[in-house]
Amino acid sequence: MALIVQKYGGTSVGSVERIQSVAKRVRETVRGGNTVVVVVSAMGKTTDGLVGLAKQISPNPSRREMDMLLSTGEQVSIALMSIALQELGQPAISLTGAQVGIVTEAEYSRARILEIKTERMQRHLEQGKVIVVAGFQGISSIDDLEITTLGRGGSDTSAVALAAALKANLCEIYTDVPGILTTDPRLVPEAKLMDEITCDEMLELASLGAKVLHPRSVEIAKHYGIPLVVRSSWTDEPGTKVISVMPKPRPLVGLEIAKAVDAVEFDTDQAKVALLRVPDRPGIAARLFGEIARQNVNVDLIIQSIHEGNSNDIAFTVVENVLGKAEAVAEAIAPALRSHPANTQEAEVIVEKQMAKISIAGAGMIGRPGIAAQMFNALSAANVNIEMISTSEVKVSCTIAQDDCDRAIQTLCEVFEIQDSPMCANPHNIALESPNAPPVRGVALDINQAQIAIRHVPDRPGLAAQIFGILAEKNISVDTIIQSQRCRIVNDNPTRDIAFTVAQVDAEMARTVLEALALQTGCGEVKVDTDVAKVSIVGSGMVGQPGVAARFFEALAKEQINIKMIATSEIKVSCVVTEEDGVKALKAVHEAFNLAK
Ligand code: ASP
Ligand code: MG
Repeated sequence: MALIVQKYGGTSVGSVERIQSVAKRVRETVRGGNTVVVVVSAMGKTTDGLVGLAKQISPNPSRREMDMLLSTGEQVSIALMSIALQELGQPAISLTGAQVGIVTEAEYSRARILEIKTERMQRHLEQGKVIVVAGFQGISSIDDLEITTLGRGGSDTSAVALAAALKANLCEIYTDVPGILTTDPRLVPEAKLMDEITCDEMLELASLGAKVLHPRSVEIAKHYGIPLVVRSSWTDEPGTKVISVMPKPRPLVGLEIAKAVDAVEFDTDQAKVALLRVPDRPGIAARLFGEIARQNVNVDLIIQSIHEGNSNDIAFTVVENVLGKAEAVAEAIAPALRSHPANTQEAEVIVEKQMAKISIAGAGMIGRPGIAAQMFNALSAANVNIEMISTSEVKVSCTIAQDDCDRAIQTLCEVFEIQDSPMCANPHNIALESPNAPPVRGVALDINQAQIAIRHVPDRPGLAAQIFGILAEKNISVDTIIQSQRCRIVNDNPTRDIAFTVAQVDAEMARTVLEALALQTGCGEVKVDTDVAKVSIVGSGMVGQPGVAARFFEALAKEQINIKMIATSEIKVSCVVTEEDGVKALKAVHEAFNLAK
């Protein structure tokens, strides 16, 4: 007999008929010999409707009252679902988040779950009842009885957290699509259903705006090893499995705020090749990385920074023993990128040896902006200068000088309380989860991004820490951080430009705090561009496989799409393009990787 948590989204409970049909499915599951806990969302577009009502009264309603208001939607669904079950002769009881004892932080509208009491649920389950729990809500502390919500889409998180607390055998997320698709089917009708995806891949895709699963639910599934399935509530098709390797046991207290970083990794075998001042036009990255792929050289991080005037810098890292080959390719291509082959002011190739990469790995890094800032801070306190930065939901990596590596490892292990020995970066660890993973599992488009650039940031340890520290204080998540390769001397001091992307809603707040910081620290202008879109490819199979990024760039080049920024992490490559090119880029890339049905 299994304990199963089933979550039904808004569309699945959007009408009386649908509630009745869900109730039948629940009863069938019980008849199959299982114990069932059901989590439901508000009916249909109820939550949007409630938001609309509040906005008619105030443009800026208090977050406490919004939580009070929005949490009512789920209360309607649980009662109706429980009535529907009882009507079928299935004993059932509905419970609000407070009645269950879903204890959260006292952070209205984006509370994280601290703990879930299970006594009352156990009691009802022993009586043979189905428990119907209101998703998306909790209570800040048992004494205050403050109602909190987990953030829009948070019912998925309620369900997976309940599965963790109850040590359920399975958590099923029922929705109005057949499972997780290779991309957004509204934009690309050829999008194909996946049989499975790893938690890490899903985290990257979820944070990139694939709205199938609330990213925090995937974080919990990864941390507690919850078997998770996303499937359609209209059919009996198996849907998509979200898989992970069995994690080390963790306490259930502090459920969603426990350690985000579970390992420090390093690689002391890195070298960097950079091309400075290459023309800003479509096709350059495709040409460079296409040739490198033909030489069968595997590149690790790739970054292309914001362009200045009409030129870009592109840099990438490789393992040291193929540096010679990589450099030769760059040198061979460079003359063709210049307006005159002899004009070495353009497309200048520089290499740097003896570099190391140091990373913190875990889940939910972008969602918790303080983590990356804490890493930069620790490195700066240890006087380690950061060369390149790459961020993703599951990893933040910095390239540094090899000589600094031991110091960096030590300080990061201390700061993030890592007791086990740090891991030497090993691509096979990633392959373990899903040995036959394709190089690209899915592609995503995020049009709600803004690109921010800070010019002339003094090149000394500590500035990245300050910049991302103040953004973290404002709870602004940052993605795709890039530090320019070019070093410019301003008032006798070397400076670099730093660029990154944030959610568009955070752009103005980011500008305000950064302009103040720029004044204080002697940085240059802060530029904000909201006319951008980010296209990303995600797949664990791309690790150690040459040519994946090149194929991405070639697909964009074929469509004459100019790339504004490139950033990669181990299982993700992202390009920032103009917003206008977003959908075209998504389609081209989806096709280039043969993801269509
Ligand atoms: N009803 C809430 C929302 O629309 C939570 C959920 O459906 O997951 O955001
Ligand atoms: Mg949802």
